[in-house]
Amino acid sequence: MSQKRAYLTMDDAPSKDFRKKVDFLINKKIPAIIFCEGRHIKGREEEVIYAIKKGFVIGNHSYNHPSFSEINVKESLSEIKKTDELIEEIYQKAKVKRPLKIFRFPYGNKGGKNKKQIQDYLKLLGYRQPIFKNINYLWYKILGRGKDLDVFWTFNIKEYQIGKEKYKENTIQNILNLINKSKKLKSNSREIILIHDHDDTTKYFNLLIETLLKKGIKFIKPKLT
Ligand SMILES: [Zn+2]
Repeated sequence: MSQKRAYLTMDDAPSKDFRKKVDFLINKKIPAIIFCEGRHIKGREEEVIYAIKKGFVIGNHSYNHPSFSEINVKESLSEIKKTDELIEEIYQKAKVKRPLKIFRFPYGNKGGKNKKQIQDYLKLLGYRQPIFKNINYLWYKILGRGKDLDVFWTFNIKEYQIGKEKYKENTIQNILNLINKSKKLKSNSREIILIHDHDDTTKYFNLLIETLLKKGIKFIKPKLT
């Protein structure tokens, strides 16, 4: 079985089953960057502290998960800042040094015409990308995905579509088939895999990770500098 390396990222955390997912990843020795929404951190600080103490990296995924092109600059910066402060506080409570400030836009929406101002603000706050090596996709390079200060992905599992009205045909089996047949996993590029921490897909979480492992994926840590 060929081994393909990948970085695991998990968005929209923390859900109510967050700790279970973290424990599963610990059990499988899988490192991950976990992008949290500020509104979800409230009341679940202890769970996030637990993940930090276990070595997971917490990223900023805005406060309310808006589409950044649909809000103004002031609101955009506030979405970033509020969650930045929450994460800072949590690292302090965990007594762990925040390794790197990492941000991911909800829906990968970089803010349309406000993109530059938002990128400048990320820079001002000290946000940077981890070093993801050997992402060889041409589109990733052409679109400057590795150069912007926010973190994108190369392979979205899209398990949030399961059972949703718009995607009625998407069942867990169809998602598993997609993973199993994915051309991406045969390419020579490393992947930044995106999975979600949603309450309604918790029951698929372990199965999805196990399926990726069975495909020969070895999850590694990016360099945080
Ligand atoms: Zn999201």
